Amino acid sequence: MRTRFAPSPTGFLHVGGLRTALYAYLLAKQSKDAFILRIEDTDQERSIPGAIENILHTLHWAGLHPDEGAIVRDGVMAQVGDRGPYIQSERLPLYRKYAEELVDIGAAYYAFDTKEELDQMRDEMTRDGIAAPRYDASVRMRMKNSLTLKKEEVTIRLEKGEPYVIRMKVEPNQLITFEDDIRGKLEFQGKTVDDQVLLKSDGFPTYHLAHVVDDHLMDIQIVIRGEEWLSSLPKHLLLFQYFGWKEPRYAHVPLLLNKDKSKLSKRQGDVAAEDYIKKGYLPEALLNFLALLGWNPGTTQELFSLQDLIDGFSLDRVQKGGAIFDTEKLDWLQGQWIRRFPPAEFAAKILPFVARKYPEANEDKKFDQKAALIQERITFCKEAPEMLSYFYKEPKFDLDLVANKKQKVAKELLPEIIDDQINRLASIPNDEWNVNKIKLILGFYDKTLNHLKLKRGQYLWPLRAILTGLPFSPGAFEVAAALGRETTLKRLEAARKAI
Ligand code: GLU
Repeated sequence: MRTRFAPSPTGFLHVGGLRTALYAYLLAKQSKDAFILRIEDTDQERSIPGAIENILHTLHWAGLHPDEGAIVRDGVMAQVGDRGPYIQSERLPLYRKYAEELVDIGAAYYAFDTKEELDQMRDEMTRDGIAAPRYDASVRMRMKNSLTLKKEEVTIRLEKGEPYVIRMKVEPNQLITFEDDIRGKLEFQGKTVDDQVLLKSDGFPTYHLAHVVDDHLMDIQIVIRGEEWLSSLPKHLLLFQYFGWKEPRYAHVPLLLNKDKSKLSKRQGDVAAEDYIKKGYLPEALLNFLALLGWNPGTTQELFSLQDLIDGFSLDRVQKGGAIFDTEKLDWLQGQWIRRFPPAEFAAKILPFVARKYPEANEDKKFDQKAALIQERITFCKEAPEMLSYFYKEPKFDLDLVANKKQKVAKELLPEIIDDQINRLASIPNDEWNVNKIKLILGFYDKTLNHLKLKRGQYLWPLRAILTGLPFSPGAFEVAAALGRETTLKRLEAARKAI
């Protein structure tokens, strides 16, 4: 199934847009067909510089690589496929040709109405109690267009270069029916559809014309797009009919909602995919999260890789109702995904973050061992430098932390505990310094951990707090093993002196 993602470059790519791209990508890949990227920039006033680059980079980050259109290669936009990149503003003559074709067969017409005349028309209709004034069959016959003006006058106006638009002709009495892949059977009355402008006076097509022409020319088999386009569907179906083209399948995906069920908006949180990238979410987590916003796998499985999604996704499990954008779920998925990486891959992912703060991490032969200590505890890669800080800088000795009330470690106990640990640990030769040996020596296996008649936590807390200087950290044995014999003893001795 050939699918496309057709964003308008009107700002940073929205998370809802990324979900639409994902669904379209999944359907294409399921059938080993092409996923196409088309930039719909026919509304020049709303187009924003940098937005195309942002769309490309976001898709690239997410691993949703288009097969036709454009991709990011070596950091810049490059064409893929032999027919791309598809940027609508570069295809203007094409749309004009098709709009004129519809005029020739009587399915569309030139309209010369000025802005003032249109405003007046709307005012009059409002005065007559019409709630949603539209340029429709009842209006068309009293306005200035090629259906009401004499043929010669139309020719003269066109030759003089008078501004005009081309509008599609919608017959009010017809019933337009359709079967949407998510919404099921749909029915629209012709009288509720206006004579949509297809070609604007600036020569640009409207979205309605351009996407129909392009979806036809690009052999798109199913259009995946947001629910907000549902009301425009009858226009699009009519256009396919007028051109004599077979329409694609359509699947209108549900809106994303805030927790209070209002439409997801900037006011209540971040909506640009970019915001989530900047915060450090993994593409795996964000895609997993977005896939489940509206799609229900029908099982209890919650973690889905891109490949799992390609294998399992189906439109008949996409709901009609809006999907709540619950970032707690996203955070949970982020935690799950970060723990799923094989240890070496995890270490490689966090290394750049740590090395930015502590460049010596790049040369650290024990970096993987250290990284492994935090994989179960971390949520975002950017937390790694802080979580591993004590490996690269001396922690400050903090008596309040070491003599911790919650752990029932009274200050008076510290000299005895630290001396005992120094003595025991110093007996381990350098080449036998490892987690097991440290556990053994400190009495972990033979209950003699209680040799000082202390609880396990009372005995181990100070060691961990002295070595890391942090209130939360991995266990004392693992930290000591990764720190090495010399540093461990040095820190213990310094602490002993400080109390
Ligand atoms: N350019 C439209 C948008 O910005 C695309 C809608 C569609 O996919 O047909 O959402």
